[in-house]
Amino acid sequence: MQDVIIVGGSFAGLTAAMQLGRARRKVTVLDTGRNRNRYASHAHNILGHDGVPPGELLDAARKQVLGYPTVDLIEAKAIDVSGEPDNFAVATDGGDTINARRLILSYGIADEFPDIPGFVDCWGKTVIHCPFCHGYEVADKRWGLLYSSPMSLHGPALYANWTDDITLVLDGHHIIEEERHKLDRRGVRIVDGRLAAIHHNGGQVTGITLDDGTELGLDALYAHPRNRPSSDLHTRLGLEMKDTPTGTMITVGDMQATSRPGIYAAGDLAMAMHSVTFATNSGSLAAMGALQSMLL
Ligand SMILES: Cc1cc2nc3c(=O)[nH]c(=O)nc-3n(C[C@H](O)[C@H](O)[C@H](O)COP(=O)(O)OP(=O)(O)OC[C@H]3O[C@@H](n4cnc5c(N)ncnc54)[C@H](O)[C@@H]3O)c2cc1C
Repeated sequence: MQDVIIVGGSFAGLTAAMQLGRARRKVTVLDTGRNRNRYASHAHNILGHDGVPPGELLDAARKQVLGYPTVDLIEAKAIDVSGEPDNFAVATDGGDTINARRLILSYGIADEFPDIPGFVDCWGKTVIHCPFCHGYEVADKRWGLLYSSPMSLHGPALYANWTDDITLVLDGHHIIEEERHKLDRRGVRIVDGRLAAIHHNGGQVTGITLDDGTELGLDALYAHPRNRPSSDLHTRLGLEMKDTPTGTMITVGDMQATSRPGIYAAGDLAMAMHSVTFATNSGSLAAMGALQSMLL
């Protein structure tokens, strides 16, 4: 019987594993190696590691975590889960069943890419979702913002410190005149057509074409595709969920506790704002929550 099974061994899960390993707890981490930022060549805004490739960060983290003899990392997918505190069972696609007293779910979310030529080629390079992660590298350049929800209207005010050249691509959506005037006063260009193609050189956006034939020169395009949890284990467990602007997340309370005793959630799966630092912070909290609950 393990103390904790961690499903998802990336930024959140490995942080939890390290914390528990240092507390000499028996931990199994299950992971399928598909961290969400694997499309980006470099990860930013991570203290002490700014500009390091995400794969390099995770390789180093895995090595460090495996230095703790009570931590086990299995490259396998968790496909089923059942049980109660002090006796959870997680089944893997490798045919194993592992039992543990507590569960930490940190299997992240997956972005659902629109079927637009060029989108995936540029994702994480110059089609980006977060200015804090990748905006500095394209500062003062021509930015596009692909409208996806009313939240998109907050983009131009946020982006203004990076560039004053912003085009909002409405992508078939309608916005009220008052919003148009506000954007106009900010100097934001608005185009009404739907995005038809993204032109690029090796992932570096050069421009876009709209469905009405309009061509626009751009150097970066902000996009916020819908996302979904990377697994359905939370559904099998009947965990309480809540909506985020682009998907759903597991509802968590103090120390990342979910709606069911003994089960904790961390990382992108359990928060509306997503970054490596937020993920590691919540992984650390989840580990503390699981550990404290075992002391009772
Ligand atoms: C393109 C892009 C670029 C980004 N750049 C930055 C940046 O520069 N700086 C920054 O701070 N943030 C960045 N982010 C955000 C960052 O990637 C996420 O916040 C972070 O990866 C979340 O970590 P996580 O551990 O919650 O999930 P993830 O890193 O997504 O990891 C989840 C892990 O769980 C595994 N998994 C999934 N299902 C199962 C299962 N059933 N069984 C076992 N394992 C499973 C996956 O394979 C994966 O390894 C970026 C995001 C994107 C999309």
